[in-house]
Amino acid sequence: MECKITLIPGDGIGPEIVREAVKVLNKIGETFNHTFQYTEVLMGGCSIDAYGVPLTDQALDTARAGDAVLLGAVGGDVGNSRWYDVAPDLRPEAGLLAIRKGLNLFANIRPAYLYSQLADACPLKKEIIGDGFDMVIMRELTGGLYFGKRYTEEVDGVMTAVDTLTYNEKEIRRIAVKAFDIAMKRRKTVTSVDKANVLDSSRLWRKVVEEVAKDYPEVTLTHMLVDNCAMQLVMNPGQFDVVLTENMFGDILSDEASMITGSIGMLSSASLNESKFGMYEPSHGSAPDIAGKDVANPIATILSAAMMLRYSFDLDKEAAAVEEAVKKVLTEGYRTADIMAEGCTKIGTTQMGDLIAERI
Ligand code: NAD
Repeated sequence: MECKITLIPGDGIGPEIVREAVKVLNKIGETFNHTFQYTEVLMGGCSIDAYGVPLTDQALDTARAGDAVLLGAVGGDVGNSRWYDVAPDLRPEAGLLAIRKGLNLFANIRPAYLYSQLADACPLKKEIIGDGFDMVIMRELTGGLYFGKRYTEEVDGVMTAVDTLTYNEKEIRRIAVKAFDIAMKRRKTVTSVDKANVLDSSRLWRKVVEEVAKDYPEVTLTHMLVDNCAMQLVMNPGQFDVVLTENMFGDILSDEASMITGSIGMLSSASLNESKFGMYEPSHGSAPDIAGKDVANPIATILSAAMMLRYSFDLDKEAAAVEEAVKKVLTEGYRTADIMAEGCTKIGTTQMGDLIAERI
C-alpha cells in the first residue's frame, strides 16, 4: 500500500516525538511492505517565525492533498514567548483550530487504555481497576455549545449571558456512524452519552443514534446520562468500549478518562472527517519545559501513528504490531522520565523510539 502522510512536527518537543513515530512507521513499511511518503509542513510558532502566520494556505492545501496528517504539538511557553504578544488568531494554537476547520475534522477519538505495566500510575483503587480498561471517547468536535450563537447583554438592568446548544440530525448522524464503525473494529459496544432528561438536543441525539444503530445489528447500544457517565468512569471504567457524545460532554469526559490512565505522555488521539482522512496527534502539548533534552515520551505520538494505520489506512494488523511493540518495551522495564518507576531502566526519547521500532 502507498500512503501520503503530511508531517507537522510543530514546536517544542513536537519535532523530537514525530521523528520517533516516523522511525516506527518506516519499520512497519519495511516489515509489511508498504510505502509511506512524507511531506513536512510548518504550523504553530515555527510557521509564525517563517511566514508571520500560524498556518499558511499552502500548508493547509498540502495537508488536504495527503491521506492523513501526523502532528506533534504546537505552542510555546505562554507566559514567556513572543508568539503570544499578538492577537489570538495569530498565536500558534490558532493554527490548530484553522486546520481542524479547514479539513472538516468533526470526529475526535481519544483512547483511554490502562497498561498493566503502568497500573501504579492510575489514581483509582486496585479493586476498581480490576482487569484494567480499554475505551475510546468519540467526541463531536465542530457543533454544540462551543459553536452556537453567544452574546452578553443587559436585560432589565441585569447583565445576561447566552450560549446556545444546537445540533441538527445530520451532524449527529455522521458522528454516530463513525462511532459504530469504530465499535465494529473493537468490542462492538457503544455507550451514547447525553442529557435527554433535560435537553432537546439530547433527545434528538438519542433518536438519531438509535436510527443509526439499526444499520449495525452486531453492535450493542446503551444510553447513559452524562452525570452518571462521569461517575461510572471512576467507579467501573472497565464497562466502556466506545463512548459516543457531543462536544462539551466529550471535552469533559475525555479529560476525565485520560486522567485515570495516569500518564499524559501515553495518550494518543485522532480527528477524522467524513472520509478516511484523519489528523493524528498526542493528547499532550508541546512541553516547552523539556524540549530539546531528549527526555520527552514519544509513545503518545507513536500510538497516534498506530491509530492512523488503523483508521485512515485500514491496516489493523500493522496498528496492532505497533501497540504490541509498545507493550513489549514497557514489559521489559524501559521508561522515559515521566513514567519512570522503581526497578525500571530510564531511557530518552530517541532510545524509546529505537526500541519500539526494533520490536516490530
Ligand atoms: P503540555 O502537555 O505541553 O505539558 C504539561 C506537562 O506535561 C509539562 O510538565 C510537560 O513537560 C509534560 N509533558 C507533556 N508531554 C510530555 C511528554 N510527551 N513526555 C513527557 N512529559 C510530557 O501542556 P502545557 O504546558 O499546558 O502547554 C505547553 C504548550 O503546548 C502551550 O503553548 C499550549 O498552548 C500548547 N498545547 C498544544 C497542544 C496541541 O498542539 N495539540 C495541546 C495542548 C497544549
